[in-house]
Amino acid sequence: MKNAIQNYIGGSFYNPANELWLPNYAPAQGEVYCQIPDSDAEDVAKAVVMAQNAFPAWRDMGAEARSGYLLKLADAVEKKLEEFAVAESIDSGKPLSLARRMDIPRAVHNLRFFATAILHTHTEAHEALPAMLNYTLRAPVGVVGCISPWNLPLYLFTWKIAPALATGNCVIAKPSELTPMTAYMLTELCAEIGLPAGVLNVLHGVGGKVGASIVEHPDIKAISFTGGTATGATIARTAAPMFKKLSLELGGKNPVLIFADCVYEEMLATTVRSSFTNQGQICLCGSRILVERSIYERFKVDFIRETEKIVVGNPLDENTQMGAVISEAHQQKILNYVKLATEEGGTILTGGKAMYPKDAEKGWFVAPTVIEGLAYDCRTNQEEIFGPVVTIQPFDTEEEALLYANSVRYGLASVLWTQNLARTQRLTQALESGIVWVNCWLMRDLRTPFGGVKDSGVGREGGWEAIRFFTEAKNVCIKL
Ligand code: NAD
Repeated sequence: MKNAIQNYIGGSFYNPANELWLPNYAPAQGEVYCQIPDSDAEDVAKAVVMAQNAFPAWRDMGAEARSGYLLKLADAVEKKLEEFAVAESIDSGKPLSLARRMDIPRAVHNLRFFATAILHTHTEAHEALPAMLNYTLRAPVGVVGCISPWNLPLYLFTWKIAPALATGNCVIAKPSELTPMTAYMLTELCAEIGLPAGVLNVLHGVGGKVGASIVEHPDIKAISFTGGTATGATIARTAAPMFKKLSLELGGKNPVLIFADCVYEEMLATTVRSSFTNQGQICLCGSRILVERSIYERFKVDFIRETEKIVVGNPLDENTQMGAVISEAHQQKILNYVKLATEEGGTILTGGKAMYPKDAEKGWFVAPTVIEGLAYDCRTNQEEIFGPVVTIQPFDTEEEALLYANSVRYGLASVLWTQNLARTQRLTQALESGIVWVNCWLMRDLRTPFGGVKDSGVGREGGWEAIRFFTEAKNVCIKL
């Protein structure tokens, strides 16, 4: 693995124009292991010119040729799956087994899905015979910006660049400064497979500097952003007066509603996963577990027992099920929320403290934590913690469960456990979220719309929605 990475602009690798560098930490070791460019507006300006130059040829080569490049890129990543998985694990602190099973295969899948989706899409025609015929053309937007977070680094990076490139746009992308390594490795493969220069440009650095410069650049016509709600608001403030297209995938505080008639064992195993996968750092994790009172005590005992079985350790160890959280600051933020929970009257049933596993004693670990006894409207139950911390709470009626579930400002995902069809229909309609998983969690079909309501975002990604976002519709009306 490199000890310094570079920006990828116009098909070549460059140091940042200002020659400033940032340290990149390995969260499980708590130490710096490489340097990354601290890029700024000058690098953005250079990348935009390269992207503009590349755009006409990329747009005009047609879907099949573009598809060919993306499929080649997918194959190249797949061939190096293990190398990518190790890099993702070191860079983010997540278990190697998870990166190998989920992050990298899903990144490959993103590339393949959009590479082939564009071969099967079509536009609409509206006949009003004998007077006129209308039809819709869909053209790429032009140069677009893709900004992604640290929790699922290559997975969410490709989730954005794949549809953007497939539909004929040229891209200026910025991965999180906390996890830039696999995006950098992807640019090495772009060079290797001969992706035309300037089609994809990847800049590294902090959000407030190079990220903000991407959002501010007048020639970047659309911004696809995934990250925190506060950052989304900042980006919207800059982009709105420039009339940029915006897709915002933001934070969550997702409820899990468990009814007594669920398939208990499956619910229990899945709820452990939906609470603690990736150290609880998935925007889709269920962090507020609401349980029908008749099974609350049973669930509590079983859930604590299963949570305490989770192996927290060095992410590169094959047995590890939970790794380090992303940074020291994030570890502190999570532990401060645990403290707040006790101040708000909560009882820590398990976890609630930092951990120092063998061979990773200096890393940033938090024990999987379960808290009970909190009111649904307290801060711990309202604010996004984004770590391995969940609250459990009993409810008596469906109405009460729904009240608790919908009480937050967020609306990304909900999880519902019941076998009652009528209840399923009532609640899937009434839950305020962009996604409802019924008797499952994190099952994904890339054709489905993905995104949140309320403060969890604006717009949808996935399938046709992403293709729509990265293209402009033009209506043509012909008088007959
Ligand atoms: P973040 O908002 O701090 O950063 C996300 C990205 O935006 C990073 O690349 C960062 O450098 C950049 N950025 C920061 N400030 C910027 C600015 N002013 N202008 C432009 N870019 C800027 O988020 P994070 O801490 O990296 O990620 C965690 C958050 O992401 C959580 O809130 C989580 O819920 C959310 N998330 C949402 C989804 C979803 O699909 N809705 C998926 C994953 C994560």
